[in-house]
Amino acid sequence: MTSPLFPLFADLRGRTVLVVGGGAVALRKAAALLEAGARVRVGAPQLLPALAEWAAQGRIEHLSGHFQPEWLDQAWLAIAATDDGAVNRAVAEAGEARRVWVNVVDDLEASSFHVPARVERGPVQIAISSGGGAPMLARHLRETLETQFDESLGELARLLSRERARIRRHYPDMAVRRRFFDRVLSGPIPSLLREGRLDEAQRAFGVALIDDKPDAPPAGSVALVGAGPGDAGLMTLRGLRVLNEADVILHDRLVSADVLRLARRDAELIEVGKQAGNHHTTQDRIHELMLEHARAGKRVVRLKGGDPFVFGRGGEELEVLADAGIAFEVVPGITAAVACAAYAGVPLTHREHAQSLRLVTAHLKDSTDTLDWQALAQEKQTLAVYMGVSGLDLLRDKLIQHGRAASTPFALIENGSRREQRVVTGTLADLAERARGHQVQSPALLIVGEVAALAQRLHWFGDAPLTDFADAPISSDTAFAAAA
Ligand code: SAH
Repeated sequence: MTSPLFPLFADLRGRTVLVVGGGAVALRKAAALLEAGARVRVGAPQLLPALAEWAAQGRIEHLSGHFQPEWLDQAWLAIAATDDGAVNRAVAEAGEARRVWVNVVDDLEASSFHVPARVERGPVQIAISSGGGAPMLARHLRETLETQFDESLGELARLLSRERARIRRHYPDMAVRRRFFDRVLSGPIPSLLREGRLDEAQRAFGVALIDDKPDAPPAGSVALVGAGPGDAGLMTLRGLRVLNEADVILHDRLVSADVLRLARRDAELIEVGKQAGNHHTTQDRIHELMLEHARAGKRVVRLKGGDPFVFGRGGEELEVLADAGIAFEVVPGITAAVACAAYAGVPLTHREHAQSLRLVTAHLKDSTDTLDWQALAQEKQTLAVYMGVSGLDLLRDKLIQHGRAASTPFALIENGSRREQRVVTGTLADLAERARGHQVQSPALLIVGEVAALAQRLHWFGDAPLTDFADAPISSDTAFAAAA
C-alpha cells in the first residue's frame, strides 16, 4: 500500500517558482502561479507569444535555453511542463537533489507534489485528489462540486473572515463558538448573500452576534422547487443546491426517482402524492406538513413535477406560508409542455404553423363549461393539454365543434423525457381511439396543432413516434389490463 498524499495549500506570494517549458501547458501553469502571487520564472528555448509578452512586461522572468539545474536556485517549487520526458525527468531529479518540490505534468511517478483539481469561490478553495491514479475521476468530482456551490460562498467566507476577531472575542469557548457558527450558517445570512444583499447580510450578522439565542430553534423555511419532467439533468442548478440543503423534502408522486436520488442522504423524504377523489384533504395535509416542519426549524423543500406555478397549486401553498409568516422561495422548473415538446421534437411555436401557445388542463369534469372553446379551437396556435388522458373524446368533440379541423395533427407524449417515453401521433379525428389503442397512461401531455406533425421528422429521443395501432407494444401488464 502506498501512503496517502498529504494535502497542503501553499502561500506562494513573493516566492520564486520555476516553470520549465514554453508551450500551452507552461502558459496555463504560469498564469495560475501568477494569480497566487508567485514570482514566476519560465525556462525554455522558445516561448509562446503570450509568455514572451509577459516576459517583455516583466511579469515573468525568462531563462532562455535548455534546462540547467541552476535554474532551480532560489526556487521553492518547480513545474516541469515540456513535451520531452527526458527533460521533465531531469528537472525532477535536480529538484530531488536540491529538495525543491517538483510537479511533472502528467507524470505522477516523477512528481514530488501534485496539483489538485479545484473549485474556487473567492477565498474558499476545494481541492480534489484521487491520489494521482484517476485524474478523470477527480475532474468529474470537481464538476459535480461546481454545481453545488455558487459565488456567494466566497462572500460568506469574506464576511466570516472580516468578523473573525469579533466572533472569537464574543465566544472564547470553542464548542460554544461552533454552535454559533452552525446557527449562522443555517440561518438567513447565506440566502441574503446569495441574493446579493451584502449589506443586509452584514447587518444580520451583527445582530446575530449580539443577540444570539443559543436555545432558540433555527428559523425554518420552505423552498418551492420545480423538479422538471423527470430527467434529472433538467433540474436547475439552483434547484439542485436547495435540494442538497434540505432537511425535509415533501415531494409529489410525479417527481422521478432520478431526481430524488440527488437529495442529501440524511434528508427526510415524504411522498405527498395525491389520490384521486381525495384532493382537498390531502392538499390541506400538505399545508400542515409544510408548516409543521418549517416551524420546527427545518429547511423544507416542497418538490413538484415540472414547474411549481404551472398547474401545480404552488400559489395556494405559498399563500399558506405567507399567512403563517414563514420564509419561502420559489425555484422554477421545466414544465411538462416545454420538456415534452423538446423531447418529442415538436417546436411549440413555428413561424409558419403556430404563433401562440396555450397551456390548458383537461380536468374537464370541472372546467368544460368555463373553458373558452372558441379561443382554444383557433388555428395556427398550439395547445398543450395537461392531465388529459381521460377526457380526450370530449376534447376532440369540443375542438371540432368549435371549428378546429379534424385533420389537425396531435402528439401525445407519455412519460416525456424519461427512459420509458412514448409518443403517439395522429390527427384530431382519431385522437381518443389512438390513445386507447396504445393504452396511453398518465403522466401524458397532449400537443394539438400543426407543429405536432413535425415530430415525425424531428424526433431524436427514444423510439420514433407511434403512428398506427399495429406498432403498439403489448407489454405483459398492459395485456393483462386489457384482458381484465
Ligand atoms: N406542474 C407540472 C404539471 C402538474 S399537472 C408541470 O409544470 O409540468 C400533471 C400533469 O403534467 C400530468 O397529468 C401530465 O399531463 C403532465 N406531465 C407532467 N410530467 C410529465 C411527463 N414527464 N410526461 C408527460 N406529461 C407530464
